[in-house]
Amino acid sequence: MALKVLSVASEAVPLVKTGGLADVAGALPAAVSGHGVEMTTLLPGYPAVMQSLGKVRAIHTWPALLGEPARLLAGRIGDHPLLVLDAPGFFARGGQPYSDSTGHDWGDNWRRFAAFSRAAADIAGGAVKRKAFDVLHAHDWQAALAPAYLRYAPPEGGQAVPSVQTVHNMAFQGYCHASIFPWLGLPHEAWSVDGVEYHGGVGMLKAGLTSAGKITTVSPTYAAEIRSGEFGMGLEGLIRARGHDVVGILNGIDTALWNPATDPALARHYTPRTLPRRAANKRAIETVFGLDHDDGPLFVVISRLTWQKGMDVLLEVLDHLVGIGGRLALLGSGDPRIEQGLHEAAARHPGRIAVRIGYDEDLSHRMQGGGDAILVPSRFEPCGLTQLYGLAYGCVPVVARTGGLADTVIDANPAALAAGVATGVQHGAVSYDSLAAALNRTVALYWQPGEWERLQRNGMKCDFSWAASGRAYADLYRSLAA
Ligand code: ADP
Repeated sequence: MALKVLSVASEAVPLVKTGGLADVAGALPAAVSGHGVEMTTLLPGYPAVMQSLGKVRAIHTWPALLGEPARLLAGRIGDHPLLVLDAPGFFARGGQPYSDSTGHDWGDNWRRFAAFSRAAADIAGGAVKRKAFDVLHAHDWQAALAPAYLRYAPPEGGQAVPSVQTVHNMAFQGYCHASIFPWLGLPHEAWSVDGVEYHGGVGMLKAGLTSAGKITTVSPTYAAEIRSGEFGMGLEGLIRARGHDVVGILNGIDTALWNPATDPALARHYTPRTLPRRAANKRAIETVFGLDHDDGPLFVVISRLTWQKGMDVLLEVLDHLVGIGGRLALLGSGDPRIEQGLHEAAARHPGRIAVRIGYDEDLSHRMQGGGDAILVPSRFEPCGLTQLYGLAYGCVPVVARTGGLADTVIDANPAALAAGVATGVQHGAVSYDSLAAALNRTVALYWQPGEWERLQRNGMKCDFSWAASGRAYADLYRSLAA
């Protein structure tokens, strides 16, 4: 009998995406299905998710879930089962999943995602008939109260269901004022340093980290990094105390969606053996962005424009990038000061730097398929997906040596080049000097066509599919269920 796992995520492709969490939650069901796991995904009933369902009957109702009426609807996400929490008071609104259309976080996010987590615990615990699960898998702070509900307030008559908490990014912790505690419906004993209490408030992510049977994060290096103050962001002591319960499982990429030989977004398909065909995609990107057409290196960036992603340092180094013959096409949105700085750089360097502020999935594929190199100068990076897509697409990653970036890119140092195993360029500190030096090295490699094509082909041949990681998650669920 297949093991039944409820994956509780606040976003999942193809229905709703703000970042890498959605790629992972969307890919996991297929990744584990070959390993004896049947995964059902639970998503909040945002408008886009509700639209995907068409007309369906409710399979469960809550008269008041954290104060709002809610229903549970069943559908499909790809080939896999989907459950949707239809709670209009929480989720039927415009804007983004976590913020309004001006980018401000919704003030009631704690209540929206506490309700989501309460529902998840009820469903996994068997309060919803026919739908009991062997394991609950909570993603990030938005789902992290679910393990705490299972531990402290399981559904009446329900079973003790083990849980996994995954940290996709330690920087987002769902920290709330203590005054919300009475509204969560948790017993008094949950208010403890081993429970949800965190620096005098409620730590939603912390609640998951103290309550889940296992903790995972999305790369081995990040799993080690979050044991230190620099990366643990206050939770390093807890991570150290959980010892061997914390494991790093590298994210894979969905090769059905990200494959340059079949990607419908690309003007021209290609494989490691037909790399020259990429030129047509490069020309297309230059045209879309209004960049000069020339044979020099075309750098791309596809990113949230934030401090974490090192975008402030990228800004500083742009004049240098142009000075050494590079061009840049950037897609992203975020910090208004960084957006402003990028517009200024584009105005200083017409034809050399072009910026598209916004979110565009299709364009992101085309940039990977046409750019020569993708820059990912993150200060910390739990896994990072854009460098993996870059590897798969022959868009050579130039990355900071941290987290999943360190785990997935082999630096083109003399030894790796001599051994023929390099896949990209790494730099140490996220500073002007080290980023400029990495750009210099990249441009020098670019002008050695044999060497450059070898980098591209090495990356494209790497296996970053979900095969190994799907098995690792399945093994983890099985160890908990036993
Ligand atoms: P994070 O989740 O921290 O933002 P990841 O690298 O793990 O970073 O995942 C980011 C995902 O979001 C990738 O799939 C990337 O292609 C996508 N992405 C980021 N910004 C944009 C954008 N402006 N337009 C389209 N896709 C984007």
